[in-house]
Parts: sequence; C-alpha cells; structure tokens
Amino acid sequence: MVQAVEVRKSFGGNEVLRGVSIEVQRGTVTALIGPSGSGKSTFLRCINDLETFDSGDILVDGERVAYRREGTKAYELKPRIVAKRRAKLGMVFQGFNLFGHLTVLENIMIAPVQVLKQDKRVVEQRALELLRKVGLADKRDAYPDSLSGGQQQRVAIARALAMEPTLMLFDEPTSALDPETVGEVLEVMRTLASEGMTMIVVTHEIGFAREVCDQVAFLEDGVIQEIGPPEQVLDNPTHERTQRFLSRVI
Ligand code: ATP
Ligand code: MG
Repeated sequence: MVQAVEVRKSFGGNEVLRGVSIEVQRGTVTALIGPSGSGKSTFLRCINDLETFDSGDILVDGERVAYRREGTKAYELKPRIVAKRRAKLGMVFQGFNLFGHLTVLENIMIAPVQVLKQDKRVVEQRALELLRKVGLADKRDAYPDSLSGGQQQRVAIARALAMEPTLMLFDEPTSALDPETVGEVLEVMRTLASEGMTMIVVTHEIGFAREVCDQVAFLEDGVIQEIGPPEQVLDNPTHERTQRFLSRVI
C-alpha cells in the first residue's frame, strides 16, 4: 500500500529525513513513534504530497508520489495528479481544522460534494452513517465550537472518511485532547482498524500502538532506527535509542 525508499528531505541546511524506508501492507496499522523533531510529521506530509522531498521514492497504491523530471534532480508535483491522489488519502491532524462556519454535517459533506462532485443526497446519507459510526448522530446540526475536543476530532475523522480514502494518516490525533476524551477517539480508530482500514498513526499512545498496530516504527534523527511488531519494538527493543525513548514515554 505504501512503499517508501530512502526518502530524504532538508529544510535549508537541516536534513530532517535522512533516508526513511518503510513498507506498509494493505489493511494494516503502523504506528510511527519517536521524539519531537525526529521528522514524523514531515514524513506523513511527504506521503500526502503536502511536502515535496529531495530524493528517494514513495509509492502509494502503486502510484509514485513525486516524480523526477527528466534531466533534473528536483522532484516535482503535477497538480492534477496530486489532487486526484490526495483525495484518496485521509489525513487527521492534532488540531481538528474543522470549518467553524459550517455545521458538523456540512463539514463532512463539503469535500465529497465540492471536490468529488458527488450527488448531495448520496453524500448526506453517507455522512449520516459516518456520524453514527463515530457516535455523533445527534450533533449533525451543531457547530464545531460547541463540541468537545474529542467530539471535534471524531467529526474530523468522519470528514476524512467521507472521501472514502484507501489510506488514513493520523498525526498525533489525541495529543491536543483532554485525557478523558482521548479514549473515545482511540475507540473510533480501533474500530477502523478492525474493519481493515490501512492506517499510519503518529502517536505517543503506546498502549494503542501495542494493542492495535501491526508494526511499530521508531524514528529518530530522520532515520527509522527500529521497526517490527509491537511486542518486539515496544517490549524488547534491540536498539539502545529505542529503549531510552520508551523509558521516557511509558
Ligand atoms: P513533533 O513530535 O514535535 O511533532 P516531528 O517528529 O513531527 O516532531 P517534524 O515536525 O517533522 O518533527 O519536524 C522535523 C524537523 O523539521 C524539526 O527540526 C522542524 O523544526 C523542521 N521543520 C519542519 N517543518 C519545517 C518547515 N516547514 N520549515 C523549516 N523547518 C521545518
Ligand atoms: Mg509532528
């Protein structure tokens, strides 16, 4: 589903990704863990075309994310291809980024209607189903401001799902939440995982990673230092740096 090979990315002189390689199989959940500044968000943004990268290769669903123009070293993006592909990827951020002037239902419907030009009634039915799925059917006409952080994040997940993505990317989806609402968001993610959604999740929720994820990748200094099943990486890390990181977060 996702194959990244030796991805490198610098901001000015600061090399943030120093050869990231990872393979994510369809229907699996990957946790990406690592200290602040290690490049986790940058890597997710590269997968999603929100960021270009300098060298290496990323394939999503067999399609190359960035291509190298003949005769140059620069990777470039073709806007039309990017827009089409990005529509298949769901992204959920730490901040919920809902449209404040739209109701919950409108937030979920806007992209399928305006970007994919889908029939409004069909989209509405799907949006209502998604609201039920995330447990917020009664909030369809509410505005984001009136919802708790956990509720807003569940709307954000429903909004991403409304595009019928083949891959969901989560960047610390629970980090900005009150502790009591973290669980409800993780529960929705757990359900998605059990339904076979392919997911890459940047998270500090080690319990979630252990229970739900098929593989855990530990990123530090722009390199995946260790990757494997949760019981290996989280409980028996072979790298000293992974051990040190885990001893701080657990
Ligand atoms: P955190 O856990 O704090 O979210 P992270 O692992 O997601 O960290 P990134 O956000 O990917 O880390 O950032 C990696 C490095 O790249 C940091 O040093 C950051 O300052 C730098 N960086 C990220 N985005 C930019 C940008 N747009 N311009 C310049 N530097 C950037
Ligand atoms: Mg980040």
